Amino acid sequence: MKPRKIPLRKCVACQEMKAKKELIRVVKTPSDELLIDLSGKKAGRGAYLCGKQSCFKLAKKSRALDRALKSPVSPDIYDALEQDFIKVEDEFIAGKETLVDDE
Ligand SMILES: [Zn+2]
Repeated sequence: MKPRKIPLRKCVACQEMKAKKELIRVVKTPSDELLIDLSGKKAGRGAYLCGKQSCFKLAKKSRALDRALKSPVSPDIYDALEQDFIKVEDEFIAGKETLVDDE
């Protein structure tokens, strides 16, 4: 039995399918900036990663974001994003806990 109504997205690093709220979206904006998009609503091409640092590190190692976003991502940008990722991770986890509490 599989739950049907949850929209699933694939983590570009570990290739696991997960519910959108389990994933952090990285977006490449029309002005070519790479940002972490916790709202999931920013315009641009998006890639999803599990909300954990290990998946970000894996993405960096395998250059998964380059492939997902179909453009080269420089190591500097990976480093900057990793810092942001660490920052949002707490917020992201806190947000998930809030969602769980709603049930
Ligand atoms: Zn993952």
